[in-house]
Amino acid sequence: MVGFCGSDLNSFRGLNPLITYPRILGHEASATVVEDFGSGNKLSAGIEVAVSPYTSCGTCSSCRRGRANACQFNQTLGVQRDGALTEFIVMPREKLYPAALTPKELCMVEPLTVGFHAVARGRVTADDTVAIWGCGGVGLGVVAAASSQGARTICIDVDDDKLELARMAGGHLTINSKREPLHDRLLEMTEGRGPDVAIEAIGTAATFRSAVEEVAFTGRVVYIGYAKEPVSYETRLFVQKELDVLGSRNAQPKDFHAVIKLLESRRFPVDQAVSFIVPLEEAPCALRSWSQNPSQFRKIMVRLD
Ligand SMILES: [Zn+2]
Ligand SMILES: [Zn+2]
Repeated sequence: MVGFCGSDLNSFRGLNPLITYPRILGHEASATVVEDFGSGNKLSAGIEVAVSPYTSCGTCSSCRRGRANACQFNQTLGVQRDGALTEFIVMPREKLYPAALTPKELCMVEPLTVGFHAVARGRVTADDTVAIWGCGGVGLGVVAAASSQGARTICIDVDDDKLELARMAGGHLTINSKREPLHDRLLEMTEGRGPDVAIEAIGTAATFRSAVEEVAFTGRVVYIGYAKEPVSYETRLFVQKELDVLGSRNAQPKDFHAVIKLLESRRFPVDQAVSFIVPLEEAPCALRSWSQNPSQFRKIMVRLD
């Protein structure tokens, strides 16, 4: 099974700068093992697994520092190399995560790991109030991860549906920034200090700036979104507030394990997070409808059985 996210939509529209065409999509995937050609720690045929779609070179500075998730030469399935939207794929054993989950749940693992990694980057603890800009697929993972760390979470979006889903994923407070004054509401919710950690999961210039403006003094700002244009900043804020500004990319094996644990405890609303599941033949049509009405859909998944 393969899930689509915003980056697939960009690829479909020809707007993903990392992609060359033709390209088979599919980086959020679950699979059934057909055969294991490896030696030792073998997976038996029939076992369901979540797939980690990243590669790493082993020699770049990220890899040498044990942060292969940010490998300089990473090739993600469905992005820089052909993906999982096909009947059979061959993967190294260490990229597969077997778990007591359904194929649909396993297919949610990768998108959620991205948020879990961002929360790890932000060093979130139970003492923190974490504000999350954007409650789409990636933001939801942030909400679930921060709440499971015991942090207080403030979910920000312009779509009430997404805010509702964020609450189901463990979000404590919500702000609809289209209707409510974001700055005032954040101050009210944090006794005038602003959130300790600001996590940006949208990728617009306005939200990139907003995270730095709203975060508390000596807070941490984590960026997951890719801004499509250069962003100009009041850099005085970086210095005055003595901020930690952090990027977060992909996810590490420990994030996969943490998400699997969360899903196994059935504390994440998988059914509500998925709009529908279509067979492979209907995938182009589903992508077209999604492209025409991007706000109408949550996650779309494709069945390949
Ligand atoms: Zn994705
Ligand atoms: Zn590398």
